[in-house]
Amino acid sequence: MVNPHLPQPTAFHCQQIKIEPDVVTIVVESSLPDGHCPLCGHPSSRMHSHYTRRVRDLPWQGRSVRLRLIARKFFCLSPACPRKIFAARLPEIVVAHARNTVRLNDTLSSIAFSCGGEAGSRLARRLGMPVSADTLLRTIRRTHIPVPSTLRIVGVDDWAMRKGLRYGTLLCGLEQHRPIDLLNDREPDTIAAWLSQHPEIEVITRDRAHCYAEGASRGAPQAIQVADRFHLVQNLRQALVKMLDHRYPQMVLAMKDTAGRSPPLSPNAKPVEEESLNRGLGNRLPLRPAQCDVRCNRRLERFDKVMELHRQGMSHREIARRLSIHRETVARYTQARVYPERATRNYASKTDQFTDYLKKRWQDGCQKRPSTCA
Ligand SMILES: [Zn+2]
Repeated sequence: MVNPHLPQPTAFHCQQIKIEPDVVTIVVESSLPDGHCPLCGHPSSRMHSHYTRRVRDLPWQGRSVRLRLIARKFFCLSPACPRKIFAARLPEIVVAHARNTVRLNDTLSSIAFSCGGEAGSRLARRLGMPVSADTLLRTIRRTHIPVPSTLRIVGVDDWAMRKGLRYGTLLCGLEQHRPIDLLNDREPDTIAAWLSQHPEIEVITRDRAHCYAEGASRGAPQAIQVADRFHLVQNLRQALVKMLDHRYPQMVLAMKDTAGRSPPLSPNAKPVEEESLNRGLGNRLPLRPAQCDVRCNRRLERFDKVMELHRQGMSHREIARRLSIHRETVARYTQARVYPERATRNYASKTDQFTDYLKKRWQDGCQKRPSTCA
């Protein structure tokens, strides 16, 4: 019986299918009339015996599938070959000594690259392909990533093995849109050595790190070095935030001046509170009443602590460690000098037009799912 769902169906005859609650066992026998000796490559159709392999295949309806593969052994007909008997290889179905079929390994490899170890293991188990996280990680490490023959434009950036502590270098082919290689550090010598093996590189995009500038100049002097778009936009954003933080006191003055001269926009518009504006002339921003909540006060206290420790000469890293906050937050506070107010929502919500109706329903007691309310 030829089963079209088997790998390479014409090469096997299905002898038996046994379905159990969690697993399906399929017994198949090879019908290949001959094989090639793996040592000398000589073909042979003189059969010696059978042997059985047990391998896992793609699942069926969430059940694991096991193949009992009855393959053939042949006599090697080459007199000079030291191997007298060989087992017929089935490289398109399962490689020698493997426990999974090729197509199952391909699927697990896709899961490993998409989800990683732990998450991939949970997904594969749910799909009927139980596999450990370590096996999935080994699959990733075993995968050979070919370097393209023509490497013209390369992007260089760092990647974190352990964020804040240890970094390596990531090299991407920008025409191929994929990673090419990973280096263990960010040393100029390492980068120069890698680049010198690729004299065809014409353009290198990078950030402004000194190590990459030096490595690229030494390893690929023929290439043009350009700042990549990501870092240009990132630098622009950081510069803009820094500038606005420094100018915030002047912005508060301008707001106060504008509020004093402009009439209210509508009869319902609330006047700007003089007291809150005056408070903003110190080292803090004006606070709207709605913002004076617990979280806001907590942020203000944290800002004060950061500035106090900064004045004492403590490093950003030490302040971040002591207050359990990110170093970028510490850097943002110390650069700003005044408390950087958080942006508040100033756009309309889709539910605004239903606010009155929703409040009325809530007050009427409808505080559960719509299907449970009359
Ligand atoms: Zn042979």
